Amino acid sequence: MARDKVVVLGSNFGGLTAAIAIKHELEGDVDVTVISPSDRFLFNPSLIWLPFGKRKAEDITFAVEPTFTEHGVDFVHEAATELQLANNRVVTASGVHDYDYLVIATGFQNKFDVVPGLGPGGNAYNITTLEDAIHAGEGWRTFLENPGDIVVGATQGAGCFGAAYEYLFNVSHQLRKNGLKSQVNLTYVSPEPVLGHFGIGGLKHGEGMLNMFLKKEKIASVLNVGIDHVDEGRVVLSDGANLDFAYAMIIPPFIGQDVVAKTVEISDDKGYVPVRDTYQTLPYDNVYAVGIAAAVEVPWHTSNPIGIPKTGFPTEQQAHVAARNIASQVRGEVPAAHKEFGDIPAVCVMDAGNNGVIILADKMLPPRKHSVMIPGPQAHAMKVAFEKYFMWKAKHGHVALP
Ligand SMILES: Cc1cc2nc3c(=O)[nH]c(=O)nc-3n(C[C@H](O)[C@H](O)[C@H](O)COP(=O)(O)OP(=O)(O)OC[C@H]3O[C@@H](n4cnc5c(N)ncnc54)[C@H](O)[C@@H]3O)c2cc1C
Repeated sequence: MARDKVVVLGSNFGGLTAAIAIKHELEGDVDVTVISPSDRFLFNPSLIWLPFGKRKAEDITFAVEPTFTEHGVDFVHEAATELQLANNRVVTASGVHDYDYLVIATGFQNKFDVVPGLGPGGNAYNITTLEDAIHAGEGWRTFLENPGDIVVGATQGAGCFGAAYEYLFNVSHQLRKNGLKSQVNLTYVSPEPVLGHFGIGGLKHGEGMLNMFLKKEKIASVLNVGIDHVDEGRVVLSDGANLDFAYAMIIPPFIGQDVVAKTVEISDDKGYVPVRDTYQTLPYDNVYAVGIAAAVEVPWHTSNPIGIPKTGFPTEQQAHVAARNIASQVRGEVPAAHKEFGDIPAVCVMDAGNNGVIILADKMLPPRKHSVMIPGPQAHAMKVAFEKYFMWKAKHGHVALP
């Protein structure tokens, strides 16, 4: 009998984990193909360090094909251009790929047009992709030759606040290292209603701790505000106020990839895929979505819209739930693994250059029973150690490890 075929779109946190986990769940007795335009895994959490020369691209990426080959997974180095879900087919430039089960782990793209003046050729840097972070580093080196004030923040609709905070504190650390701390005004701008909301509704003592951190670092903050546009050297806020800068890094909202957005039968207005708690899509039992590609409903209303940060730990958890459920279906069983995004624990480190905060909570989204934020230099050491561990784990396909 022909083996079942699984196609996985995307080769990063979600795609790599799902593809190898499916193979392991079925002890190799399944054909798995990963399709992705990226032939390198990128450890996005370390992009915050790249502009300062603390990491180079080769330190935080590795080639995925050898990893997949080692685990018996085929790799097609192409983007999916069309999903023909009613016919169980994915189209790429070179042809058509049939599947019995599909996992969509295509992540995000930046939505720069929410604020005129952002994006390629724009007036502020961004660090959410490798290319953007490299460019932000070029800008940083130019800034060091001719320093002035700095704005770091996120636009209305953004969700990746952790990276904005980390970059803010790393900038502060770098200013001190370069002897510029006392002459540069550093300002954080965010649509969050309070400091430390993080897009997850805040954590116990979080606002107080962030306030303390900003005070200690002499960082000003402008919260609960949108950005109208960014001119050369000036952020114009939605309330009409201006912030002049010599260097700015602004995180935009994320949206889903075009190939998902145009598959309207499974996508929402942001190009994400609404899923059940099994990570199956609503209309198709054999089509799954995990990681950033999977939609999460924002459970609160704020005066400036904010998104949800879909971080690495939940992405891996979702990939494992999907892998277990696909394995069940291949065996003729009903998918039995369930895990709502909001019920997955939050496990994060907010790095601050030589310091930081370890963030742990029993659930990504409230109501929570437990949450703790542990500040100190051990948080920085932990992020460095985690990067090394995760790169090793992913490169060798040890996806069952925590
Ligand atoms: C700057 C930054 C800092 C972060 N810091 C942290 C942190 O400290 N801790 C944490 O837990 N999380 C962090 N995150 C979040 C973490 O990176 C994400 O949770 C994780 O990347 C999600 O994985 P994913 O596989 O869903 O998406 P992605 O990592 O975005 O991967 C998407 C994959 O899909 C592929 N793809 C794109 N288009 C197509 C297509 N048409 N066809 C096929 N494949 C396609 C891409 O090439 C890529 O391989 C950070 C993210 C950013 C951007």
